[in-house]
Amino acid sequence: MTTLLLTHPACLGHEPGPHHPERPERLAAILAALQDEEFAGLARAEAPLATSEQLTRVHPANYVQAMLGARPQPGEYAMIDGDTILSHGSIEAALRAAGAVVAGVDAVMGGTADTAFAAVRPPGHHATPDIPGGFCIFNNVAIGARHAQARHGVGRVAILDFDVHHGQGTQAVVETDPSLFYGSTHQYPLYPGTGHSNERGIDRNVANVPLRPNSGGAQFRHAWGEIILPQLDRFAPELVIVSAGFDAHKADPLAQLSLDTADFEWISEELLAIADRHAEGRLVSALEGGYDLDALADATAAHVRVLMR
Ligand SMILES: [Zn+2]
Repeated sequence: MTTLLLTHPACLGHEPGPHHPERPERLAAILAALQDEEFAGLARAEAPLATSEQLTRVHPANYVQAMLGARPQPGEYAMIDGDTILSHGSIEAALRAAGAVVAGVDAVMGGTADTAFAAVRPPGHHATPDIPGGFCIFNNVAIGARHAQARHGVGRVAILDFDVHHGQGTQAVVETDPSLFYGSTHQYPLYPGTGHSNERGIDRNVANVPLRPNSGGAQFRHAWGEIILPQLDRFAPELVIVSAGFDAHKADPLAQLSLDTADFEWISEELLAIADRHAEGRLVSALEGGYDLDALADATAAHVRVLMR
């Protein structure tokens, strides 16, 4: 298997403040882990900037313009909301983050890679077409899905999200379009407060399984294995995109689920098996959350290890 790792130094230049959990050290920890010799076989590329054409397949043009125009001067901050803060480097980081997923889609659709992982920040799954928030500016995975459809003629694209938070931004894109599928496990109650199991999309193309605080690997594997993956199998995606958040780890400070690295390895294997069955193995994964540096690095390494098999 050829697995492409996409990242860019600009993604370290998004600095939302000294006490913000979504900090550059997250990405640095991941990249350090992926320097290990066992990852020498990764193909590596710099993430390009997403273009206006790519962004506006998900976000209205006036939204994109507003985000580009919100860039603060060096040393200053721009508050998008209480949680979502821009530094001077944030907009380039956000454009690289979306561009990484687009480039990953190009690689797996073009056959230069089997799988791709976008080691990027800021994350994207809380950004709806019209509203940034939850640390997110552009919805990276939705932009990748729309690019696959528009540029590569892909019919059905599935986005699977095991971040501990519900990706209501992604769901907002998917729930009106039966060519897309969204499946998510997430802690409930927790930010953003959406993702009830009765949110099912236009054609039962949304599968949400909220998990109670303190749920662990057994509940997580049951949710995916018994509820989401069977629906995903019926959807038969031609491309699998993963919102890979690692904040459901038991060590994570922002949530109260109790997964360990083996659970992330398991879901990665299951999603790759779906891609093998329906999508010729094509899978593009993008980093979302994960705020304990050691757990994040360990779980991300396990995830990438599976993608390389
Ligand atoms: Zn999260």
